[in-house]
Amino acid sequence: MIAEHEAVDVLKSTQVVIEQALRKLGYGDEMIELLKEPMRMMTVRIPIRMDSGETQVFTGFRAQHNDAVGPTKGGVRFHPEVNADEVKALSIWMSLKCGIADLPYGGGKGGIICDPRGMSFRELERLSRGYVRAISQLVGPTKDIPAPDVMTNSQIMAWMLDEYSRIREFDSPGFITGKPLVLGGSRGRETATARGVAIMIHEALRTRGVALHDARVIIQGFGNAGSFLAKFMHEAGASVVGISDVHGALYNEEGLDIEHLLDRRDSFGAVTNLFTSTISNAELLEKPCDVLVPAATQNQITAENAPRIQAGIVVEAANGPTTLEATEILTKRGVLIVPDVLASSGGVIVSYFEWVQNNQGYYWSEAEVDHKLREMMIAGYQQVYELHLSRAVDMRLAAYMTGVRRLAEAVRYRGWV
Ligand code: GLU
Repeated sequence: MIAEHEAVDVLKSTQVVIEQALRKLGYGDEMIELLKEPMRMMTVRIPIRMDSGETQVFTGFRAQHNDAVGPTKGGVRFHPEVNADEVKALSIWMSLKCGIADLPYGGGKGGIICDPRGMSFRELERLSRGYVRAISQLVGPTKDIPAPDVMTNSQIMAWMLDEYSRIREFDSPGFITGKPLVLGGSRGRETATARGVAIMIHEALRTRGVALHDARVIIQGFGNAGSFLAKFMHEAGASVVGISDVHGALYNEEGLDIEHLLDRRDSFGAVTNLFTSTISNAELLEKPCDVLVPAATQNQITAENAPRIQAGIVVEAANGPTTLEATEILTKRGVLIVPDVLASSGGVIVSYFEWVQNNQGYYWSEAEVDHKLREMMIAGYQQVYELHLSRAVDMRLAAYMTGVRRLAEAVRYRGWV
């Protein structure tokens, strides 16, 4: 279990960087006071009839950081360790992602404290529908638009869409993104986060003058982002030397058999349990490589292990994998960090495309989606990297400054501060 103090740290450290970013941009206490917390946070209790016949009451959250730019947007995670402060921090990160990518949204995030790995298909359906009933007043295609996140997928989005459409009594595909294609999903959405991370790896390697074919990549986490990323990196000719899941990690300096691993992976991303010679997740992070991609969960690279990280480039596919102290240590050691709010924004960018397509009723080809995603991700990287150089700030602060700038401006224009 993540201890409460660690969870609080996620929000506190986000607030520290938000404050630094706003001060660097010339804003004062009032703006900081407004943007350091979500404007709205809802906690709901959801009674669900389990297959056994008993009722279990689940706790869920929905945080809306700020809607000065437009409706709020962000995923819903199902996880036993979800808590209010984590969801708040994640909603702020969504604002930053949308700001960097220039999407017409503010940040939102939701979560339910549950373990989907121990629930049946029908129990998950009832929980997904129950969550939508609980938050229906607060969400909608022009208010707050949910999406998949940790341990939620297109089936869960489909149930949520159906429940919302029943409540509202009209079909509203733009209420949620990450839907199956037949219900108005976008081509390329399922692979979007990984595509975005792959594009960031290419850019970071280019910055460092390393050829992709010479790059050794370690990916921590084999969920949606990690597994597709392993596939894309392998197909592009890089050598994926390490991967991991909740059970452990595999490392081979000659490169792993990615196709075999993808083939054997279960629907929650577990595969290393099929092997006998595994190492731990912590050991994997410190193995030799050129690019390290934390694609699992928060607080993986800390002040404790940062001095031993051997990668020259860290691309954060997970939300919040590197602590602020670790960011400082890595930056001093010359490691190029592509921060989460930039590197993992591919998902929400294609979610935006999905919402645009729903609003238009006109659907794009996968090539069009990929092309537009690439353009937006590269523009984001260039802005952040240039700001990092011109203002002599680390990549995380540069990303926060880029991400919060437009939001603060919108707040000003609206006259809130
Ligand atoms: N959950 C993803 C994220 O954290 C995607 C959010 C979205 O598509 O709205 O960025």
